[in-house]
Amino acid sequence: MKTKPLFLVISAPSGCGKSTLIDMLLQEYHDLVYSISCTTRNPRGEEEDGLDYHFLSKERFEELLAENAFLEHAKVHDNYYGTLKAPIEEVLAEGNSMVLDIDVQGAGKVRDYVRSLPNTDPLKIGYVDIFISPPSMEELRERLVHRGTDSAETIEKRLANAEGEIARAGEYMYRVVNDDLGICFKRLCDLIDALSGRM
Ligand code: 5GP
Repeated sequence: MKTKPLFLVISAPSGCGKSTLIDMLLQEYHDLVYSISCTTRNPRGEEEDGLDYHFLSKERFEELLAENAFLEHAKVHDNYYGTLKAPIEEVLAEGNSMVLDIDVQGAGKVRDYVRSLPNTDPLKIGYVDIFISPPSMEELRERLVHRGTDSAETIEKRLANAEGEIARAGEYMYRVVNDDLGICFKRLCDLIDALSGRM
């Protein structure tokens, strides 16, 4: 079936199940491609170039910046991070869809970029942004504690950050609550099916 190529931007506070949900979407939709960011930081642990990130030298990143190759970029702790335009344009031109996993600030920059495009641009035509939120702050705290990967101090930082991000959820076209992973996934699939014309 021929479907409309989507440019899907998904954000969520840390601990809301975003990575799991994106992995599930990639399993479900074989025409959905994950956007791999570029970074100048060094790979950590098992991270692989071209899979987790495109790991670039600072010089190469700056070259690409000068060429206006990034749709958006940010500097975090002395390292650059950015999303290249070309892979997204290529994926959409092939009739497939792209999913971008990005924080609220980055999503704001992507939105501004997309707004600046002509109405006929495939990125603008396919653009959809979704904010995944926790059922409540108490539930999010419980999940972060239960996950057991963060110190008490980090959890407090993540929660404060989450509050700031949730305050900007209204900027997104769609908001989906992750109260139950299976139900949230179903809601995302229904949304994607409707928007891409699969129904
Ligand atoms: P990490 O180094 O832990 O993988 O990521 C550090 C931060 O960079 C995270 O907040 C992550 O969301 C952000 N980040 C990763 N890729 C991109 C990107 O392409 N653009 C922007 N603006 N931020 C990114």
